[in-house]
Amino acid sequence: MALTRYAPTPSGFLHAGNVANLERTAELARQLGAAVALRIDDADATRYRREYVDDIFRVLAVRGLDWDLGPRDTDDFEANFSQRRKTDYYREVLLESGLTTYACVCSRTTQCQTPTGGCVGHCRTAGHAWRPGHTALRVSVPPSTSIHVGGEMVRLDLEIGDLVIWRRDDLPAYQLVSVIEDRDLGTTHIVRGADLLASSAAQIFLARAIGADNVVTATYVHHALVVDAEGRKLSKSTMSSREGA
Ligand SMILES: [Zn+2]
Repeated sequence: MALTRYAPTPSGFLHAGNVANLERTAELARQLGAAVALRIDDADATRYRREYVDDIFRVLAVRGLDWDLGPRDTDDFEANFSQRRKTDYYREVLLESGLTTYACVCSRTTQCQTPTGGCVGHCRTAGHAWRPGHTALRVSVPPSTSIHVGGEMVRLDLEIGDLVIWRRDDLPAYQLVSVIEDRDLGTTHIVRGADLLASSAAQIFLARAIGADNVVTATYVHHALVVDAEGRKLSKSTMSSREGA
């Protein structure tokens, strides 16, 4: 059974790019006769506001976009679908995975200066103890790690590097949550903006380690981005640090 999903993040109001992604997802589902799940990714949405979830349901209603699985409204979402109560579950999956991880003590300011998501210090070999709430946990991405995704080849070690898998504020990283949720949903088709190609590669890398075979073999569709008059990619009204997908 083919299944795709809308996976908005409630960290701001949806912009035209997010809406375009929802519509592309719905279009693909219609073409395939696939089921659609609504998955609202609030696991690491530290700027979560209830009105952002209201906005998601409003946009889906206005655009006539329907779904088969997931919350029906904001109350249903908060009562039964919020990922914020699944932190222990995500941690358990991570600890039982085959991923090689290490604690990274580099400060957020230092990390911002690196072009990739990798550690800028030497934490990989330093043997720092993981102190949840104080240190982030990163996944070791071996040199020359190549991932095929959506007809492209991504050098994960160069494009992203050792990604954070558990945040220093003791919340799961978005990439981990997305893979676990797609595994549990049985997602077979994933529609994202073209800027998230490397992100998809990272998720495939993680998927192999947590037994998410359907995420490894899923069909990935990366569509062109909606840009503003100056050709800049749109971002959420509250300036999200990363776009949900
Ligand atoms: Zn580090």
